[in-house]
Amino acid sequence: MDVILTIDVESYTGDYAREVFAGGLGLDFIVQACRRQGMVGTFFVEALGATRWGREPLQRIVADLNAAGQDVQLHLHPVVARIEGFEDHEDVLCHRDRATQTMLLARGLAELRACGAHNVLAFRAGDLGANVDTLAAMEAAGLRVSANRDLDQKSSIRSRLNDHFPARNDLSRRDGILDIPVTALRSPLPMLDGPWRHMEISAMGLGEMCHGLDRLARAGYACAGILTHPGEFFRQAGGRCVPIAKNCRRLEGVLAHVGRRPGMRWTSVAAMAARADVSSASPPDVRAPLAWSLARLAGQALDRVRVKLGH
Ligand SMILES: [Zn+2]
Repeated sequence: MDVILTIDVESYTGDYAREVFAGGLGLDFIVQACRRQGMVGTFFVEALGATRWGREPLQRIVADLNAAGQDVQLHLHPVVARIEGFEDHEDVLCHRDRATQTMLLARGLAELRACGAHNVLAFRAGDLGANVDTLAAMEAAGLRVSANRDLDQKSSIRSRLNDHFPARNDLSRRDGILDIPVTALRSPLPMLDGPWRHMEISAMGLGEMCHGLDRLARAGYACAGILTHPGEFFRQAGGRCVPIAKNCRRLEGVLAHVGRRPGMRWTSVAAMAARADVSSASPPDVRAPLAWSLARLAGQALDRVRVKLGH
C-alpha cells in the first residue's frame, strides 16, 4: 500500500512567521521529520496569499521545500485573495461558478510557479471545498491530480466529490483526473466521533492511525492519505510558540511505522501522477481499532482536565 503525507501550508493573516514557520516548530519541524525518515511529503502550498501579501513568504516556503527535496503542489483559500473585481468572504471554492474557479486556479498556479515551484500537477481546495466544476477548472489549468475527497465531513471538510469517483475512500480516476483522498476509517464510537474519522495527525491517536493503516493494507487499499498542517505542531503561549508534544510524537511515530512495514511505502502525490493501474472497485470499509479510539478519547478527556487545572 502506498501512503501519502499531505501537508496544507497557509496563512490567513499574512503573518507567516506566526502561522507557518513558528521559529522552526511548524513547517521546518515537518520537513525535518520527513528527512529523518528519508521520505518525501506533499506540501499543498496556498498561493493566493501572494496576491495580498506579496510573493516573498511563498518564495521562502517553496525554496525551503525545494532544498529539502519535498513535493510542492497547489492549495487555494479564496478568502485571502486580493484580485481586482473579485472578493470572497466564505472561503469555499465550490460555492463559486466554474469560470471564477478557473480564474482562481490559473492565478494561483501562476503565483506558485513564479515563487519557484517547478513540478505542480496537483490541486487541493481549502477545506477540500471542491466540486465537479473544480475538476473542470483543474483540467483547464493542466492539473490532473486532485486531493479533494474525505468522508469525514466534520471539522470543516467541505468536499462535494466523495460520490463522483468510482472507488470510494481510495485512489480513483474520473475522466482523466486521479484523486487521492484523505483516508477515513469507520468510527467504532459514532455517537462520540461521528460515522467516519479521518486520518489527520491532530484527529487520530498514534495507535489508532498505525493499526488503522495495517487494517487498510490487509483490506487491499491501493493508497492511504494522511492530512496535517504546520499549525498542528505548535501553539502560542505567553507570546511565543511552544511545541504540541503529543502531535509531534504522532507524526514521528506514524512516519516510522510506515517505514518499518514491508507492505507499505511512503510516496508523494507527484510520484502517484503517472500511476496507470487504478482500480474502479471500492475497497471494503475499515473500522478504526476500538481500544485505540478509546485510548485517544481518554487522553483527550485528561487533557481537558489538565487545562482546567491550569497544568
Ligand atoms: Zn487550507
